[in-house]
Amino acid sequence: MADRFLPRDRFPALVEALRDAGYRCLGPRVREGAIVMEEVERAADLCFGLRDRQAPGSYRLEEGTGRHFAWANGPTALKPLTFVPRETLWRARREGGGLRFEAPEPEVGPLAVIGARACDLAGLALQDRHFLEGEPDPFYKARRERLFLVAVNCTHPADTCFCASTGDGPRAEHSFDLVLSELDEGFLVAAGGPAGADILAALPTEEAGEERNRRADAEIEAAAQAQKRSLPSRNLRDFLFGRQEHPRWEEVAERCLSCGNCTNVCPTCFCHSQETVPDLEGEVSDQVRQWDSCFTSGHSYIHGIVVRATTANRYRQWLTHKLGGWHDQFGRSGCVGCGRCITWCPTGIDLTEEVAALGEEPGGA
Ligand code: SF4
Ligand code: SF4
Repeated sequence: MADRFLPRDRFPALVEALRDAGYRCLGPRVREGAIVMEEVERAADLCFGLRDRQAPGSYRLEEGTGRHFAWANGPTALKPLTFVPRETLWRARREGGGLRFEAPEPEVGPLAVIGARACDLAGLALQDRHFLEGEPDPFYKARRERLFLVAVNCTHPADTCFCASTGDGPRAEHSFDLVLSELDEGFLVAAGGPAGADILAALPTEEAGEERNRRADAEIEAAAQAQKRSLPSRNLRDFLFGRQEHPRWEEVAERCLSCGNCTNVCPTCFCHSQETVPDLEGEVSDQVRQWDSCFTSGHSYIHGIVVRATTANRYRQWLTHKLGGWHDQFGRSGCVGCGRCITWCPTGIDLTEEVAALGEEPGGA
């Protein structure tokens, strides 16, 4: 239960407290018609009064609320803040007749993100497992350790959301430093750890009271009930691996552009490629890591053969790995129900619909 209340007119104190504590702040702002996480210097920089309309292949914003967070996720997850789209891992430089190897330090500094949603936190927890377990990735680790996360419980899910069915939302339950529940008159605030408790102590809050907590809980529950899409909660590994030859893969391939948008916006996708990029003088050569996608031909290129040469193969790979193979790797599905791949697919392909179709017998029985 959140036990502190920050009235709306005192909300600017949150950004001030974070900046006073040395954090650079990112928060929701509108860019090119979508809500994205960008730098904010004061609370007035945050978007206000907006709601979103999302559907397969469609996203638009409308005015008309008295709240800061009456919308569901935009296209960017937390992923680019920790697993950046393109970066140099190491560099080789000609020197004295030999080569000198350098490891560039990632540019990091304390960074607070205001407005992370439960599905974002679930995606981050999965990326943590991939990049930090075993031999930790030093670039990811450095960026992850500097993050201060201000989560917001979702009360306005999009038509494409289904986090309730994957068990990842709409309430933020882990991996945050502070969590907010927005009401018309202000915010319930709770800390998720010592760093969050320090910021909370610096805010001009007051007792929240049971009635506000009850209202906030009711709004979160209503957000779960409002979600229209769902994935089966069971492990789909055997279901999908048993349908490798189902005609639906060819059918979806007629609509899929193999563009990779779904993997770019997905908060859990972690595939990447590496390339060597020499400078024009041939003195320095960078080893660069960049996001890759199972929808590119290069991703399955092995010894002169593109293993997954067709779009049907690539869509099958994506879905069976995401919802099936992840259970072997991580003990759960790789989908946290954020719905981004549905909204941002240019042809509106909906993985919940594809899973349902794969459950039908070929021939429409
Ligand atoms: S597969 Fe789609 S709905 Fe699931 S986490 Fe990735 S982008 Fe979100
Ligand atoms: S499913 Fe949609 S977003 Fe993903 S590769 Fe195909 S067309 Fe692009």
